[in-house]
Amino acid sequence: MTCRVCGNNDTTILPVGKYADFFLLRVDTSKDEFRLFSRIDLIRTRAAILPIRALRRIRRMLMPPMLKPAVPFRTDMQSCTLCHSITPCHEYSAEDLLGLYRDYRSETYNRDRISVEPWYAQIVNDVGSHPLEIKNRNAAVDSFLNKNASHFAGGSMIDYGGSDGRMIPSFAYNQFDSIFVYDASGAPLHASVDARKVKKIADPRAKTYSFLTCMHVLEHVGNPKALVIEAARLLAPGGLMYIEVPHELTKIVREDFEQRIIDTPITIHEHINLFDRSSVGALIGSIDGLELIDDAEDVVDLGWISGLIGRFLVRKVK
Ligand SMILES: [Zn+2]
Repeated sequence: MTCRVCGNNDTTILPVGKYADFFLLRVDTSKDEFRLFSRIDLIRTRAAILPIRALRRIRRMLMPPMLKPAVPFRTDMQSCTLCHSITPCHEYSAEDLLGLYRDYRSETYNRDRISVEPWYAQIVNDVGSHPLEIKNRNAAVDSFLNKNASHFAGGSMIDYGGSDGRMIPSFAYNQFDSIFVYDASGAPLHASVDARKVKKIADPRAKTYSFLTCMHVLEHVGNPKALVIEAARLLAPGGLMYIEVPHELTKIVREDFEQRIIDTPITIHEHINLFDRSSVGALIGSIDGLELIDDAEDVVDLGWISGLIGRFLVRKVK
C-alpha cells in the first residue's frame, strides 16, 4: 500500500488499530474495509491448561455449539519504512470525519464525548484552552519563527485549520497586516483575538498568501500529503508554510511494529496518524515545488499534558 504521508510504497501492515469509543460514536467506521471481527472479543495466544480443555470438550459434546455474535475487534494500520508514520489502512475523507469536528470542543461535543469516554471529564476544560497551552504553544512558535525571521517579508497570512484564532503567535501579528483563519468548524473568533487584523474566511484564494500556518492538522486528516498539496496551492510563489504536528510515535511502538508484535493496540481517536521526527520532512521532500528550510523538535508544557512537538518551515519554490 502507498503511504499517505510521503507516497512511499514500502509499508508494513498489522491489525493493531483500535477505534476509540467517541470515534465509533461519531464516525461511520463500517466504511473501513480493513476491519477485523472477533466472536469473543478476546484472542487466546496460548492453549488453556489440560483440565480446562477437557471440561470444554465435555461441554461441546453435551451442548450444541452456540456461536457468539461477531463484534468489531481491530483494524489494519500501515507503517511506512521511509517516513515512519503509522496511519489507518482505510482512508477517511474529510466528510467522513466531520462528525468529530463540526461542533469541535463545544458543549454538545463535550457532552457526547464524556458519555462514552468518562475520563474526558477530567480534562475537558483544559484541552485546547488551558492558559499555559495557549501561552506556551504560541511562545514556542514565536521562538522558532524569530530564528527564521530573515525569510519573511510581510504580505498576508492564513491559518489553515486555525479554529477560533487563538493560536496566532505575536510574530505573525508583527509581521502581517492581514491575517485570515480558515477552519472546517463553525467556531467564531475568540474574544481575545484582534478582530481588526484577523478575519475568518470560508473560501481562501489560490496563489495569494505569503505565509500559511498549518498547526495540529495533519494528524487529524485522512490524507496528510494531499492536504499539504492543497494548502500549498494557496501560497503565492516563494511563500512560506509553517507546519506543526505532535510527535507521538514512540520508539517502543515503532519497534513493536517492526517485530510484528500486535499485543498493544494503537488507539484511533482524533489523531488518526502517528508521526515522529522523520515523517513531515519526508512528506515535504516528496512534493515537487516545496523545500524544507528549517525544522525542530521540542517539548511543550500544555498545562494538562506535555507534548513532543515537531516544527517545520517550508518554502514554495515553484
Ligand atoms: Zn511514508
